[in-house]
Amino acid sequence: MLVLRDLVDLVLPVTCALCHRPGARLCRTCRGEVRACLSVDVTRCRPDPEPAGMPSCWVAGAATGALRALVTAYKDEDRRDLAGALGALLAPALRRAAAGPEARAALVGRGLLVVPVLGSPRARRRRGDVPLVSVVQAASRALPGRVVVAPVLVPTRVTRDQSRLGAQARADNLAHSMAVPERREPTVRGSVCVVVDDLVTTGATLTEAARALTDAGAAGVVAAAIGATPRRFGGGSRPIS
Ligand SMILES: [Zn+2]
Repeated sequence: MLVLRDLVDLVLPVTCALCHRPGARLCRTCRGEVRACLSVDVTRCRPDPEPAGMPSCWVAGAATGALRALVTAYKDEDRRDLAGALGALLAPALRRAAAGPEARAALVGRGLLVVPVLGSPRARRRRGDVPLVSVVQAASRALPGRVVVAPVLVPTRVTRDQSRLGAQARADNLAHSMAVPERREPTVRGSVCVVVDDLVTTGATLTEAARALTDAGAAGVVAAAIGATPRRFGGGSRPIS
């Protein structure tokens, strides 16, 4: 049965999410530009300064240019058809984050909990959904074993828009702003979690998410993201030319 999206696709030609040329969701040229933002290998993301309690975090590339534009197109320019493409970009980082002994044991045991972070309150109000969830679901299919995608985090209070805040101000803004509701605690208690964001800036969001999951009884928390802002993009990797 045709769903609404299929009907829309029949009427509207597909255009490139970045240059808007008709033909493909992401044209060959723009695909090359996205690829140029990726590292040769998945890289450990070490923000400077690194927030106390930041989980080990793995990223696929640098959150610049085409890669950042692709995430923006998906989240804020009505290009939700890019969930699979962004999931494919996230998958290597997620696989690396899930390669530790605790996570591997979880994959063959009770299941690895993959937890998308909360967007800002303003973004949630504007978008009316949490677009990261579909990306995380697409990427999680690349993990071997039992995976549970669980958006278990909820806000505990109103936070400010982060975009103009520095590292310390972001950390202060987000401290104790997330929690696992009591009814979801049994899911988290004793679980190994991979917390996922799309792009990492200061690490404050992942750090707060990890704190909330640990407080709810998580046995361990690591993190993965598609990209990290270059000045915080450590690990000695270089972009593919
Ligand atoms: Zn293009």
